[in-house]
Amino acid sequence: MSGATEPGFRTARGYRMFDQENGRLSPALEDYLEMIYRDYLKDGYARINKIAEQLNVQAPSVTNVVQKLDKIGMLKYEKYGIVQLTDKGKNVGEFLLNRHITLESFLKKIGVKDSLLKDTEMIEHNISMEALENIELLNQFLEENPNIIKQFDEFKEIYYKNQKDNE
Ligand code: ZN
Repeated sequence: MSGATEPGFRTARGYRMFDQENGRLSPALEDYLEMIYRDYLKDGYARINKIAEQLNVQAPSVTNVVQKLDKIGMLKYEKYGIVQLTDKGKNVGEFLLNRHITLESFLKKIGVKDSLLKDTEMIEHNISMEALENIELLNQFLEENPNIIKQFDEFKEIYYKNQKDNE
C-alpha cells in the first residue's frame, strides 16, 4: 500500500478509511504525528530535538510520546534521536495534515483572520468525519464557484454597514 503519496487520499473515501482503521488518537498524539509528518515531507525523517523545538516542549517529553507512537506502529524510534514514519504513520500523518489544511482553508474562506490558527488547532481534534467530509466538499464547491464567496463578502459588508448605521 502506497497511499501516502497518492493525491487521491485526500478524498471523502480516504477519511472514512482512516476512521475505520485507526479510531482516534489523543489530541497530543495527533499534534506530534502531524508535526513529524511535516518534518518527514521536508527531510524524509524527523529528529527528537527538532520536534521539541517546533512544539516548544522538552526533549524527554518528545521521547515519551515518540515511544507511544512507536508502540502503536506509527513510526520507528531509531538511534541518535532519529524518527522514521512507517507506512501506517505516513498515511495517518497525511490525513492529519490534510485535515488541518482543509479546516484552515475553510475558516480563511469565510473570513476568519486573527484566530485562524487557534481555531484550526481547536477544531481539528474534535471534528467528526462527517463534518470534515462536508467541509472539504464545500471548499471544493466554493473554489469552483468563486462568485458564492464574493456574494458572501458583499452580504457581510452590507450587514456590518447596517449595524454601524443603526448605532
Ligand atoms: Zn494542526
